[in-house]
Amino acid sequence: MSCHNKVAIIFTGGTISMKIDPRIHAAIPALSSEEIMAMVTNIEKFAEIEIINFANLPSPHIAPEMMIDLAILVKETVKREDITGVVVTHGTDTLEETAYLLDLTVDSEKPIAVVGAMRNSSELGYDGSSNLSAAICTVISKNARNKGVLVVMNNEVNAASEVTKTNTLSLDTFKSPEFGPLGIVDNDEVIFYREIISKKHIETEKIETKVALIKCGPGMDSDIFDFYIDKNYKGIVIESLGRGNIPPTMVPGVKKSINKGIPVVMVSRCPTGRVLDTYGYEGGGKHLRDLGVIFGKNLPGQKARIKLMLILSVTNDLNRIKDLFEN
Ligand code: ASP
Repeated sequence: MSCHNKVAIIFTGGTISMKIDPRIHAAIPALSSEEIMAMVTNIEKFAEIEIINFANLPSPHIAPEMMIDLAILVKETVKREDITGVVVTHGTDTLEETAYLLDLTVDSEKPIAVVGAMRNSSELGYDGSSNLSAAICTVISKNARNKGVLVVMNNEVNAASEVTKTNTLSLDTFKSPEFGPLGIVDNDEVIFYREIISKKHIETEKIETKVALIKCGPGMDSDIFDFYIDKNYKGIVIESLGRGNIPPTMVPGVKKSINKGIPVVMVSRCPTGRVLDTYGYEGGGKHLRDLGVIFGKNLPGQKARIKLMLILSVTNDLNRIKDLFEN
């Protein structure tokens, strides 16, 4: 059947490309993109598919430099006149980081969806083919235009800027705990319930990889900051306690980092809610704001890290960094 939609699918690997290796009884990347597409039956009724092979890696092997290379490829592909939309397959472990990086760096009206699978093709109930068909149906929809990068899993559509992996096993793992899904895929059609909350763009094709992520716990001290300063790190993200507070024993490390010109961005280890300068005690949000800590709103630490990595590739100016996180 002829159709006017052409969708480019960029394959990067992940469980969607895996099967169980009988020698080690564990899942490894093994399927070719053609083998995966052969399981997405009847898709030619919806779109002509162009396969682009980027990698076949588990997503813990995908480093930020590769995410940037992928972003450059997505930019080039989505610009093409013959392409209606782009789908990227990805392992679910770091899918939210890649999707968010694409969302921040690729400026296009055309729909872009990132998709994966929770069950590999040797398991009963492989979800790769249904997730892929839902992602393809999403990117051919006019309603999916101007929504930033989307994550399509388990028939739910979430914004890359809002979504996170919430469960290690469930097919229903990708959630936007703060705002809820953007929409659903029902009967091969995407239905949106709401608009995206915010869309930011960072114009860059580079990334600063030396950005640390520190999760706070009671009684933690400042040693780890000394390590990152010695190792010449360029930025630090702290996943703070609650509303945006840290143990007083971590304050010297924060001060020392800022004095060395290393921006410190704070988010919360709570799954929802933003950080704010509510508390005035030592290590409280007000104290940290006065020291020059930048507040990362309600981003999870792993996404704040990606954002800081991208920003640091274009500027070291603390006011600009602050502006990009806080406004
Ligand atoms: N460990 C796998 C990966 O991220 C998980 C998955 O794809 O679901 O590559």
